[in-house]
Amino acid sequence: MCWIAIILLICLTLFLVWASADVGGNIYLKSLCRGDRADKLVTLTFDDGPDEVMTPKVLDVLQKHDIKATFFVIGSKVEKFPHIAKRIVAEGHTIANHTYSHKATFPMSSYGAVLEEIQRCTQAIEKATGKLPGLFRPPFGVTNPILGKAVRSLGLQSIGWSIRSLDTIESKSREEVCRRVAGSLHPGAVVLLHDRCDGADRLLEMIIAEIKRQGYNFAPIEEMLKIDVYEV
Ligand SMILES: [Zn+2]
Repeated sequence: MCWIAIILLICLTLFLVWASADVGGNIYLKSLCRGDRADKLVTLTFDDGPDEVMTPKVLDVLQKHDIKATFFVIGSKVEKFPHIAKRIVAEGHTIANHTYSHKATFPMSSYGAVLEEIQRCTQAIEKATGKLPGLFRPPFGVTNPILGKAVRSLGLQSIGWSIRSLDTIESKSREEVCRRVAGSLHPGAVVLLHDRCDGADRLLEMIIAEIKRQGYNFAPIEEMLKIDVYEV
Protein backbone atom coordinates (compact mmCIF):
# COMPACT_ATOMS: atom_id res chain seq x y z
CA MET A 1 0.00 0.00 0.00
CA CYS A 2 2.77 2.32 1.02
CA TRP A 3 4.51 2.47 -2.37
CA ILE A 4 1.19 3.14 -4.12
CA ALA A 5 0.66 6.14 -1.82
CA ILE A 6 4.19 7.37 -2.57
CA ILE A 7 3.68 7.06 -6.33
CA LEU A 8 0.33 8.88 -6.08
CA LEU A 9 1.99 11.62 -4.04
CA ILE A 10 4.79 12.01 -6.60
CA CYS A 11 2.23 12.15 -9.44
CA LEU A 12 0.19 14.75 -7.57
CA THR A 13 3.28 16.86 -6.88
CA LEU A 14 4.39 16.70 -10.53
CA PHE A 15 0.88 17.67 -11.64
CA LEU A 16 0.78 20.66 -9.26
CA VAL A 17 4.23 21.85 -10.44
CA TRP A 18 3.15 21.53 -14.07
CA ALA A 19 -0.18 23.25 -13.43
CA SER A 20 1.60 26.19 -11.75
CA ALA A 21 4.44 26.59 -14.21
CA ASP A 22 2.60 26.27 -17.52
CA VAL A 23 0.52 29.35 -18.26
CA GLY A 24 -1.27 27.37 -20.95
CA GLY A 25 -2.19 24.62 -18.51
CA ASN A 26 -5.40 26.50 -17.67
CA ILE A 27 -5.75 24.67 -14.38
CA TYR A 28 -5.93 27.60 -11.96
CA LEU A 29 -6.54 30.40 -14.43
CA LYS A 30 -7.85 30.26 -17.97
CA SER A 31 -5.35 32.03 -20.23
CA LEU A 32 -5.82 32.66 -23.94
CA CYS A 33 -2.66 31.44 -25.66
CA ARG A 34 -3.39 31.31 -29.40
CA GLY A 35 -5.81 32.50 -32.02
CA ASP A 36 -7.80 30.69 -34.67
CA ARG A 37 -5.92 27.83 -36.30
CA ALA A 38 -7.44 28.70 -39.70
CA ASP A 39 -5.94 32.17 -40.05
CA LYS A 40 -2.33 32.71 -41.06
CA LEU A 41 -1.96 35.47 -38.51
CA VAL A 42 0.59 36.23 -35.80
CA THR A 43 0.37 38.67 -32.89
CA LEU A 44 3.43 40.08 -31.12
CA THR A 45 3.57 40.72 -27.37
CA PHE A 46 6.27 42.44 -25.32
CA ASP A 47 6.71 41.99 -21.56
CA ASP A 48 8.48 43.82 -18.74
CA GLY A 49 8.68 47.36 -20.15
CA PRO A 50 8.54 50.19 -20.57
CA ASP A 51 12.32 50.38 -20.85
CA GLU A 52 13.80 53.84 -21.22
CA VAL A 53 16.16 52.85 -24.05
CA MET A 54 14.76 49.78 -25.80
CA THR A 55 11.00 50.39 -25.82
CA PRO A 56 11.22 53.54 -28.00
CA LYS A 57 13.46 51.61 -30.43
CA VAL A 58 10.98 48.72 -30.54
CA LEU A 59 8.16 51.22 -31.13
CA ASP A 60 10.15 52.74 -34.02
CA VAL A 61 10.46 49.33 -35.69
CA LEU A 62 6.75 48.56 -35.21
CA GLN A 63 5.84 51.97 -36.62
CA LYS A 64 8.08 51.46 -39.65
CA HIS A 65 6.27 48.19 -40.47
CA ASP A 66 2.81 49.43 -39.37
CA ILE A 67 2.38 46.54 -36.92
CA LYS A 68 0.24 46.81 -33.77
CA ALA A 69 1.57 44.85 -30.78
CA THR A 70 0.68 44.38 -27.10
CA PHE A 71 2.84 45.61 -24.24
CA PHE A 72 2.42 43.89 -20.86
CA VAL A 73 3.96 46.60 -18.70
CA ILE A 74 5.27 46.76 -15.14
CA GLY A 75 3.47 49.45 -13.13
CA SER A 76 6.57 50.80 -11.35
CA LYS A 77 8.26 51.33 -14.73
CA VAL A 78 5.16 53.07 -16.10
CA GLU A 79 5.47 55.50 -13.18
CA LYS A 80 9.12 56.12 -14.14
CA PHE A 81 8.48 56.48 -17.88
CA PRO A 82 4.87 57.60 -18.31
CA HIS A 83 5.71 59.29 -21.63
CA ILE A 84 6.68 55.91 -23.10
CA ALA A 85 3.44 54.33 -21.87
CA LYS A 86 1.59 57.22 -23.50
CA ARG A 87 3.46 56.67 -26.75
CA ILE A 88 2.55 52.94 -26.74
CA VAL A 89 -1.14 53.87 -26.62
CA ALA A 90 -0.86 56.86 -28.97
CA GLU A 91 0.64 54.65 -31.67
CA GLY A 92 -2.27 52.21 -31.52
CA HIS A 93 -0.70 49.40 -29.50
CA THR A 94 -2.43 47.69 -26.60
CA ILE A 95 -1.16 48.33 -23.09
CA ALA A 96 -1.81 45.61 -20.52
CA ASN A 97 -1.13 44.64 -16.91
CA HIS A 98 1.97 42.66 -15.85
CA THR A 99 1.87 43.57 -12.09
CA TYR A 100 3.32 46.60 -10.33
CA SER A 101 6.77 45.30 -9.42
CA HIS A 102 7.15 41.84 -11.05
CA LYS A 103 8.81 40.48 -7.90
CA ALA A 104 10.42 37.05 -8.01
CA THR A 105 8.32 36.19 -4.95
CA PHE A 106 5.03 37.16 -6.67
CA PRO A 107 3.92 33.53 -7.19
CA MET A 108 4.23 32.96 -3.43
CA SER A 109 2.27 36.09 -2.43
CA SER A 110 -0.89 36.22 -0.33
CA TYR A 111 -4.26 36.97 -1.92
CA GLY A 112 -4.14 40.57 -0.63
CA ALA A 113 -0.62 41.13 -1.97
CA VAL A 114 -1.53 39.70 -5.38
CA LEU A 115 -4.59 41.97 -5.61
CA GLU A 116 -2.48 44.97 -4.65
CA GLU A 117 0.23 44.18 -7.23
CA ILE A 118 -2.34 43.97 -10.01
CA GLN A 119 -4.42 46.96 -8.92
CA ARG A 120 -1.38 49.24 -8.49
CA CYS A 121 -0.29 48.39 -12.02
CA THR A 122 -3.76 49.21 -13.34
CA GLN A 123 -3.68 52.54 -11.48
CA ALA A 124 -0.25 53.41 -12.94
CA ILE A 125 -1.45 52.59 -16.48
CA GLU A 126 -4.64 54.59 -16.03
CA LYS A 127 -2.76 57.60 -14.64
CA ALA A 128 -0.25 57.61 -17.51
CA THR A 129 -2.56 56.76 -20.42
CA GLY A 130 -6.19 57.10 -19.32
CA LYS A 131 -6.72 53.44 -20.27
CA LEU A 132 -8.11 50.77 -17.93
CA PRO A 133 -6.39 47.55 -18.97
CA GLY A 134 -8.56 44.47 -19.41
CA LEU A 135 -5.69 42.06 -20.10
CA PHE A 136 -3.22 40.55 -17.64
CA ARG A 137 -0.20 38.32 -18.08
CA PRO A 138 1.16 36.43 -15.04
CA PRO A 139 4.83 37.18 -14.30
CA PHE A 140 6.99 34.19 -15.31
CA GLY A 141 3.82 32.53 -16.65
CA VAL A 142 3.34 31.01 -13.21
CA THR A 143 -0.22 30.55 -11.98
CA ASN A 144 -1.75 29.23 -8.76
CA PRO A 145 -5.20 29.16 -7.12
CA ILE A 146 -4.64 32.53 -5.38
CA LEU A 147 -3.70 34.28 -8.63
CA GLY A 148 -6.61 32.64 -10.43
CA LYS A 149 -9.05 33.93 -7.83
CA ALA A 150 -7.56 37.44 -7.87
CA VAL A 151 -7.58 37.78 -11.67
CA ARG A 152 -11.17 36.54 -11.86
CA SER A 153 -12.32 38.85 -9.08
CA LEU A 154 -10.84 41.85 -10.94
CA GLY A 155 -12.53 40.77 -14.18
CA LEU A 156 -9.28 40.60 -16.14
CA GLN A 157 -8.55 38.27 -19.05
CA SER A 158 -5.30 36.35 -18.66
CA ILE A 159 -3.13 36.09 -21.77
CA GLY A 160 -0.42 33.49 -22.26
CA TRP A 161 1.56 32.73 -25.41
CA SER A 162 2.09 29.94 -27.92
CA ILE A 163 5.71 30.78 -28.84
CA ARG A 164 8.21 31.58 -26.10
CA SER A 165 11.17 33.21 -27.84
CA LEU A 166 13.60 32.77 -24.90
CA ASP A 167 14.97 36.22 -25.78
CA THR A 168 15.80 36.83 -22.10
CA ILE A 169 18.60 34.25 -22.27
CA GLU A 170 21.53 36.54 -23.00
CA SER A 171 23.85 33.72 -24.04
CA LYS A 172 21.59 33.00 -27.01
CA SER A 173 22.44 35.07 -30.09
CA ARG A 174 19.59 37.11 -31.51
CA GLU A 175 19.86 35.00 -34.68
CA GLU A 176 19.33 31.87 -32.59
CA VAL A 177 16.28 33.41 -30.92
CA CYS A 178 14.88 34.37 -34.34
CA ARG A 179 15.42 30.84 -35.64
CA ARG A 180 13.53 29.46 -32.64
CA VAL A 181 10.54 31.72 -33.36
CA ALA A 182 10.72 31.01 -37.11
CA GLY A 183 10.75 27.26 -36.52
CA SER A 184 7.72 27.42 -34.22
CA LEU A 185 5.44 29.64 -36.32
CA HIS A 186 1.85 28.48 -36.72
CA PRO A 187 -1.50 30.10 -37.53
CA GLY A 188 -2.81 32.10 -34.58
CA ALA A 189 0.61 32.35 -32.92
CA VAL A 190 1.01 34.61 -29.88
CA VAL A 191 4.74 35.42 -29.68
CA LEU A 192 6.34 36.31 -26.33
CA LEU A 193 9.15 38.89 -26.54
CA HIS A 194 10.69 41.34 -24.06
CA ASP A 195 11.25 45.03 -24.84
CA ARG A 196 13.74 45.29 -21.98
CA CYS A 197 16.35 43.04 -23.63
CA ASP A 198 19.43 44.40 -25.37
CA GLY A 199 19.05 44.19 -29.14
CA ALA A 200 15.24 43.87 -28.92
CA ASP A 201 14.88 46.19 -31.93
CA ARG A 202 17.35 44.20 -34.05
CA LEU A 203 15.69 40.93 -33.07
CA LEU A 204 12.27 42.38 -33.91
CA GLU A 205 13.45 43.38 -37.40
CA MET A 206 14.68 39.82 -38.00
CA ILE A 207 11.50 38.22 -36.67
CA ILE A 208 9.23 40.48 -38.74
CA ALA A 209 11.19 39.63 -41.90
CA GLU A 210 10.94 35.90 -41.14
CA ILE A 211 7.22 36.00 -40.34
CA LYS A 212 6.54 37.85 -43.61
CA ARG A 213 8.80 35.46 -45.54
CA GLN A 214 6.69 32.54 -44.29
CA GLY A 215 3.55 34.25 -45.61
CA TYR A 216 1.98 35.29 -42.31
CA ASN A 217 0.28 38.60 -41.56
CA PHE A 218 0.27 40.52 -38.30
CA ALA A 219 -2.89 41.13 -36.29
CA PRO A 220 -3.53 43.19 -33.15
CA ILE A 221 -4.38 40.99 -30.17
CA GLU A 222 -8.04 42.07 -30.05
CA GLU A 223 -8.53 40.90 -33.63
CA MET A 224 -6.52 37.72 -33.21
CA LEU A 225 -8.27 36.60 -30.02
CA LYS A 226 -11.59 38.43 -30.60
CA ILE A 227 -11.55 40.11 -27.18
CA ASP A 228 -11.93 43.56 -25.63
CA VAL A 229 -8.59 44.87 -24.43
CA TYR A 230 -9.81 47.68 -22.17
CA GLU A 231 -12.46 48.01 -19.54
CA VAL A 232 -14.98 50.76 -20.06
ZN1 LIG B 1 7.58 39.35 -17.13
